[in-house]
Amino acid sequence: MTDDNSHPRLPCHICQATLQVRLARGRKSGKPFVMLVCPADGRHIRAFVADRAYVQGLVDQVEGRT
Ligand SMILES: [Zn+2]
Repeated sequence: MTDDNSHPRLPCHICQATLQVRLARGRKSGKPFVMLVCPADGRHIRAFVADRAYVQGLVDQVEGRT
């Protein structure tokens, strides 16, 4: 089962739901970043990924479809 390596499958530490991966962009800086959030309740966990290579890879996936 290694068909999907593009998104991390991380469970919420409270309810075990698979965290959603959201691509966001800083309002002031304009820099993209990746947020992991629990789909059941955002108060469970919100994690921010700042690794540039990983973030850029996701940006390319989302925005590189034109
Ligand atoms: Zn949760």
